Amino acid sequence: MNFGDLKKEYLNCVRCSALCENRSQVVFGSGDSKAKVILIGEAPGANEDKLGIPFCGMSGKILDELLVSNGLCRNNIFITNTILCRPPNNRNPQKEEVENCRERLDKLIDIMKPEVIVTIGNFATNRIIGKTGIKSIRGKIFDYKGIKVIPIVHPASYLYSGRNPELLAQMKADFAVVAEMLNIKKNGLEEK
Ligand code: URA
Repeated sequence: MNFGDLKKEYLNCVRCSALCENRSQVVFGSGDSKAKVILIGEAPGANEDKLGIPFCGMSGKILDELLVSNGLCRNNIFITNTILCRPPNNRNPQKEEVENCRERLDKLIDIMKPEVIVTIGNFATNRIIGKTGIKSIRGKIFDYKGIKVIPIVHPASYLYSGRNPELLAQMKADFAVVAEMLNIKKNGLEEK
């Protein structure tokens, strides 16, 4: 199976009845399907559901700032979520929904074979490395099947914090670790 086959398989997914009844569309992911890094968020929100692009609302603006400040951009990464469909009223994803989307994310990682996975927030972190408590594990490097995993605080937490500048600085520093792993300099060029 390749990336295109996987996407095709999930674009009309009906595994979660509550989700497929309420969604406008499946938000499969965006960016470079051959990227060395995959970012995994929680679930699409209202904007993402409307436009079909992960992190295209307020949290996405923060994410873009974190990427750009470290020489990364949406064209050289791939962004997806723990689950592909917007939960009604933006509630948390349910256990069963995360399980229904497990095979899809496993297959995506298998197909893309990234060097680095960035898990954004507790849901994605728990899904990939089975850990919670994002505030204490953020910026640390974990292993998942030989792939380096870096958990970061979800941009929504920064927004809920009233845009605490210290938190933003931490998040930028955590992304600097990602850029360093990929040998990306601040100007976006890879070191030889
Ligand atoms: N929050 C997420 O976790 N994912 C999105 O795609 C948007 C907001």
